[in-house]
Amino acid sequence: MVECCGEKTVYQGRIRQMNITAPRGTKDILPDEISRWHAVENLFASVCERYGYGEIRTPTFEKTELFARGVGDSTDIVRKEMYTFDDKAGRSMTLRPEGTAGIARAYIENGMASLPSPVKLYYDMSFFRYEKMQKGRYREFWQLGCEIFGSSSAYADAEIIAVLDTFFTELGLSERQLELGSIGCPECRPDFITALRAHFEADLDKMCADCQERFEINPLRILDCKVETCQPFIATAPSQLDYLCGACDEHFAKVKLALDELDITYNVNRSMVRGLDYYTRTVFEYVSTHVGTQGSICGGGRYDGLVEILGGKHTPAVGFAMGIERLLLEIEAQEVEFPPLAPLDLFIISFPDTAVSALALAQKMIRSGLIVQTDVMERSLKAQMKQADRSSAQYMLVFGAEELESKQFLLKRLSDGVEHTVAVDDLADYLLKAREK
Ligand code: ATP
Ligand code: MG
Repeated sequence: MVECCGEKTVYQGRIRQMNITAPRGTKDILPDEISRWHAVENLFASVCERYGYGEIRTPTFEKTELFARGVGDSTDIVRKEMYTFDDKAGRSMTLRPEGTAGIARAYIENGMASLPSPVKLYYDMSFFRYEKMQKGRYREFWQLGCEIFGSSSAYADAEIIAVLDTFFTELGLSERQLELGSIGCPECRPDFITALRAHFEADLDKMCADCQERFEINPLRILDCKVETCQPFIATAPSQLDYLCGACDEHFAKVKLALDELDITYNVNRSMVRGLDYYTRTVFEYVSTHVGTQGSICGGGRYDGLVEILGGKHTPAVGFAMGIERLLLEIEAQEVEFPPLAPLDLFIISFPDTAVSALALAQKMIRSGLIVQTDVMERSLKAQMKQADRSSAQYMLVFGAEELESKQFLLKRLSDGVEHTVAVDDLADYLLKAREK
């Protein structure tokens, strides 16, 4: 019986029957897969730091209004995918569905506009979208991303793509496909939207209900529809590239020229749109044929209007976000090799009267930089021997009363059974040197 809020609740017996699983669309990342996560995350951080980006972390939840304004009311994210709730004071909050809006808010709120431009940031955070679960599509997922604030130059667009290209190269992801487009600016987009309306109007009744709604709210969104029956109408739609104003055309040409110079291959995609409302000019996506229907590994582009929409000064900006789960699927498909985990250096076997001394010895070795395990189950000698064998440790030693007395250990190399006597003070050095062999 437990007392809870004044009520007596019987839970004994019942709790055991309850099978609590992780919420749909979420998953645990277990130790045997974490080395891949670390490899990807550490490499990304290293590449970003070398390009001069600093890491930022923003709150997991923000005021709902931030995303409504910053991501856009007409997007699928805001209309269908957000985890929104009222907090205890009745304020509407939302679990972050993407990173850019929160980072732009942080940029404004923390006065980063007064820092020397450009301000270059990167992040490694998880995001939340209420989506239908599929391979590579989760309700909580992770993204690695970059943002550059304060540069309208096409070279900033090129640099941000170069960050990705370097990351993929160093990761060993050799097959990659970069789709590149431009969606113009508020100057030239209205003409394009008029052309889109004219194109879709005749066949609207044959298109999905969402597209019919999008036609009214924002016809650009139709281009992002994934429903099969809408695809023929989307394929024949006019291209924004034919409607770019002079300045946008020039900007796009400069991005392409810079990418050529950087030896980054791309495919000019005439029908590219992105899922968020705030993009202007350059848009890009890394797509894969391996990840199944969730072909997009990474998406990005320029968002010159966002900071202003959120109440800051006009600040041109460009960025990208890459899904870690999808990247890992791609890594698996392309059979990218990762360095194996560092093996256990030493397994210490002890007896009841030396177990505590063995713990202290392990601690000393660990503080010297070694990977060491000792028994914390108070198991029998035989069971510990078995565990040492299974642990694939490089060395083991038996810590008995005699060793406690003599401060000398008989170190056994498990690969060939060769034994050496080593004094306690030389043990760490001996094992560290053995690593190098
Ligand atoms: P999609 O078209 O697949 O829904 P998106 O356009 O919504 O992607 P972005 O908002 O641009 O995606 O996010 C950037 C990246 O984040 C994607 O390219 C993808 O790798 C990853 N991503 C987006 N949504 C999810 C999700 N629900 N689960 C896992 N990864 C995701
Ligand atoms: Mg999506």
